[in-house]
Amino acid sequence: MDDFRHPDLLIDNVGELATLSSTESGPRYGRDMDEIAGVKDGMVAVTAGRIVAAGPGEEVATRFKPGPNTRMIDAEGRLVSPGLVDAHTHLVFAGSRENEFRLKIVKGLSYGEIERMGGGVLASVAHTRDADMETLLSQARPVLRRMMRNGVTTIEAKSGYALNTQGEIRLLEAMRQLDREGPVEIVPTLFGAHDIPPEYANQPEAFLELILTEMIPQVADRRLARFYDSGVTFPPEQTERLFSVANTFGLRPKVHADEFAHVGGAALAARCGAISAEHCLHSSPSDLEAMQRAGVIAVLLPAIPIVHRLNIPIDARRFIDAGLAVALGTDFNPSCPVESLSLAISLGCYGARMSPAEAITAATINSAYAIGRGDEIGSLEPGKQADIVIWDVANHLQLCANPSGGLASTVIKKGKIVWEN
Ligand SMILES: [Zn+2]
Repeated sequence: MDDFRHPDLLIDNVGELATLSSTESGPRYGRDMDEIAGVKDGMVAVTAGRIVAAGPGEEVATRFKPGPNTRMIDAEGRLVSPGLVDAHTHLVFAGSRENEFRLKIVKGLSYGEIERMGGGVLASVAHTRDADMETLLSQARPVLRRMMRNGVTTIEAKSGYALNTQGEIRLLEAMRQLDREGPVEIVPTLFGAHDIPPEYANQPEAFLELILTEMIPQVADRRLARFYDSGVTFPPEQTERLFSVANTFGLRPKVHADEFAHVGGAALAARCGAISAEHCLHSSPSDLEAMQRAGVIAVLLPAIPIVHRLNIPIDARRFIDAGLAVALGTDFNPSCPVESLSLAISLGCYGARMSPAEAITAATINSAYAIGRGDEIGSLEPGKQADIVIWDVANHLQLCANPSGGLASTVIKKGKIVWEN
């Protein structure tokens, strides 16, 4: 039996220990988001990859002593937090679209205009369908590595760049492979209706049928995805059908909601038992009420208005003041190459008006619940997986104020050090 009194790892001399602990399980809603349960002069004890204690050093030290096999880490008075959780990425695809960057910045073209010129999602679909597995893996690995070096230990990742059954399965298999390689854990989402593929341009209903009768069942059969994401590629009634079939196959809905216009995505999320509605840039006050009543988590992506040059800021206050739980993501994808969740945290504060504590909550415990992993990760509490970051700053205010990235000093995944700077 493990000797819990002599842990495998003790992190001592923590200036600010952001535990994110709570007496109640579940995400933090509304004004509770402004509470990271910080402890001064903290200590964390880890045994067998799990946290056994996290709290004031004086208390933890009376119960847990270093033994001959205990690894000691002196945090030197710095900030320690749970590993960050990126709740929204499109990690795996082939090719790149930096040509569109020029069109956006120099020519001032919109996302829609670039799509009509043959760019956008379908350009990535063409690259991805032609790519073999090794190409997909070798493109994603360095991205994951850089995410991890910015303090991220778990991400959600969406497929959606093949738009046929075999191709979507391959993308999800690539995610499973990357998850096995570690150290970053990947929670996979099937994004089958990311767009209408060219061969179905004139018969979208046939593509809908393919997703319903082939793609969802086969993905579920192989246990390759945990969630089913959809935007409004199809009209709301048809998207509802997709969600209800996904639900029967055990894939809980997520919704790309109201990103470029108000199209009822957030309201749909509330009706369909979705775990989260993501983007929500144009969601209305009544949508927010419906989400709040249904317990739908709002995943906000503060880099998006900047990279798509949208003339609408994300106002996180609307969501938090409506009593919602807000989570954060990068939306890493071919047109938004933002890998650093630290940047999203800073933009959440500077751009979206979150308080620093709210932004940390959104990127840890709330992101964990937004991807169905809240019971295991997202806070430093006994029994949870020991995903921990020691930061090169004294406190969470310094972390949130600094958008530069590169501030993670030691990253620990399941009790093991996976990165030291
Ligand atoms: Zn997205």
